[in-house]
Order: sequence, then structure tokens, then C-alpha cells
Amino acid sequence: MPNLVIPEIKSWEDEMMAIRRHLHAHPELSLEEFETSQLVAELLESYGYQVTRAIGRTGVVGSLTKGRGGKAIGLRADMDALPIHETTGLEWASKHPGKMHACGHDGHTTILLAAARYIASEACQFNGTVHLIFQPAEEAFGGADLMIKEGLFDRFACDCVFALHNMPGMPTGKLGFYSGNFMASADTVKITIKGYGGHGAHPDRTIDPVVTAAALIMSLQTIVSRNVTPGETAIVTVGTIQAGIASNVIPESAVMELTVRAMKPEVRELLIRRIRETAELTAQSYGAQSETEVYDSYPVLINTDEQTAFARNLAVQCFGEAAVVNDVTPTTGSEDFAFMLQQRPGSYFLLGNGMPGEKGGCMVHNPEYDFNDAIIAPGASFFVKLVEAYCR
Ligand SMILES: [Zn+2]
Ligand SMILES: [Zn+2]
Repeated sequence: MPNLVIPEIKSWEDEMMAIRRHLHAHPELSLEEFETSQLVAELLESYGYQVTRAIGRTGVVGSLTKGRGGKAIGLRADMDALPIHETTGLEWASKHPGKMHACGHDGHTTILLAAARYIASEACQFNGTVHLIFQPAEEAFGGADLMIKEGLFDRFACDCVFALHNMPGMPTGKLGFYSGNFMASADTVKITIKGYGGHGAHPDRTIDPVVTAAALIMSLQTIVSRNVTPGETAIVTVGTIQAGIASNVIPESAVMELTVRAMKPEVRELLIRRIRETAELTAQSYGAQSETEVYDSYPVLINTDEQTAFARNLAVQCFGEAAVVNDVTPTTGSEDFAFMLQQRPGSYFLLGNGMPGEKGGCMVHNPEYDFNDAIIAPGASFFVKLVEAYCR
């Protein structure tokens, strides 16, 4: 592992690991992070931060100014767990059946707490203000958006924002940066086809929503191939379809749910528009009606060039070229830090959790996922370096 660690932070490793494992054993789902945020708020207060609670329901912000003041930087961690039943059998495995920190947000929270402790200590000198943003509900409900709607950046002025995510499949403790459109937008689209039910033996006296839905699914799959410019990333996945309960009954309606992803805002708009049109006109051609709802929408995550270059150069300067991986590529996953990056310049970067087959190599959202405690100190150290370098 590269030498990416501030010695004091390294010396707190056992304490931080205990916090991480406590959080892991007690996962809380999106918008239910009451105990987690309580623990975060208490620790921040004990380190000397001015703490604001309950912004975005369970969100917490810890603020601290040092030196002559001046610039303000926001660092963000997410706190929520997933509705997954853990199967790792680890000593610190989830004590809450059906809930698991399978994305490592327990680790992100701990990394930011470790950074918080050092930033507040005598050893850390800077001129400016640090806002540590602990957000709820990254996995669902858009907790970042909730905090912004409750005035996050009006109440806590940030000139720029940074966040990290652990990444299985990347070498332990290494950092990965990407400038520009890094993660996809995600929209859930629900289409309801309303027909006219009746006897399966007399389809002529019905309007069959099942046949309409079948035709619609095939038509939807032409949007990416026929409407999107070749070379652009776009995904239309029909993940669920529900209709009918008996073989001899033509139901009244059919309902399908889609996930729709794009790497550019304009492609996203095109996909949503074409889905609406295709649903409406396909339904019409079968004599049915359609209703299209779009929700759980996350925007494209766009890292700004200046802040990404700043972070990347700093990582190289502090820890050497070997600490940075260069093959980071955009992904069609989504991330609600994108909402914060719509408001402020900044960058979302990756922290290697371990290579496949090694500790930490199991992918996130898997019941066997295991956050690698060895990356707490490197992650926290880099957050500290960002503060020291930005708030000079
Ligand atoms: Zn996740
Ligand atoms: Zn995550």
C-alpha cells in the first residue's frame, strides 16, 4: 500500500476500526439513520465542532473555522445501509436481519470522523472553514437533495465539495480520479397500461394490456438503438412487469418499472421524452391508455475539471504517482453526490478497497461485501490534505 497516511491518524486506527465495526453491526436504512447520526454528532462535538443536526431528517453537519478564515470546503460522507441480508459471518456482521452496510457507508462515515478528529487537533493548521457533511439516504430517497432543499449550502457556505467511495477491484488504499461526467443519471419510470379486462376466451371484447405491454417492451428497446446518437451511453432496462392473476382472465391493467441511465443530461432528457411518447402511442395503437411517472431521479454526476485536477495533483504531490490509479473510467452506476455537484464545484473520487480475490475485493451491494478497515487511515489522511491545501 502506498504511504498515504498521517501518523496520528494511523495511531487511532484501532479506535476508528471499533467505531466502523460498531456502525457495521448496527446498520440503519435510508432516512432511518437515527443512532448513526447521533453517534456522529456526539463525536463531532467531542472533537470541538459546531454541530447542526436533523438537516435532511437525519443529516448532520460539523463546522470548524481556523486561522484567518477565508475559503470554505465541504467534505461529505454517506451513512445509510441497504436492505440486504448479510452472509459474511464476520464477528461484526449486522445484528439487524435484512439490513447490511453492503456499500461501505459505515466506512465512509468513519473515514470522515477520523479526518474530523485530526482537522480539529492542534497538529492541523489551515485558514478557512471546514463543513463536514454526513448525509442520510444515499441509496434511496436522495438524501443529498433533501439536505440541499433544507438550505445546506445557504446555511453552510462551501466554495467546493469533495466525497469519496470505496471501490472493490481497485488496489487497497489507492486513489482514483476522473474529470467530467463520471456517473450516470438514474431515473425510475413506472408505466401503467390501462386496458379493459374480460374473459380470456373472448379477447375481442377486451383491450388486452398484456399484449400492449409486450409490444411496448420491444418498442422501448429501440429507443437506445434508434434515437440515441451512436457512441453515447444510454440504458433502458425494464426491471419489473406485473399483470394478471389467472390464465383465463385478461386483466384490466399492466404495470412495468424501468431504470433509465445516461451519462449526459441531454441524453437523459431524450430517453425520458421518447419513453413517454412510445408508451402513449403504443398504448393508443392497441386501444389502451398509458400513464408514465418518473421518480427517484438522480442527475449525472459531473466532476469539475479544476477541482479534480487539484485533488489528483495533491494526491501525487503528497503520496507519489504510485498512490493514484490512472485507469478510472465512468460507470453507469449513480450517486446522489451528483446533487451537491450541481450546486458547487468539486470532485467525487474512488478509494481502492482491495483487488478481486483479496480482502475487500467483493463488490458492493453483495451479501458477502467486506469493507476493508485498512483504508480508513489513507482515506482520512487524504481528506485532511485536501483541507490543508485548499484552505491555505
Ligand atoms: Zn450503494
Ligand atoms: Zn455507496
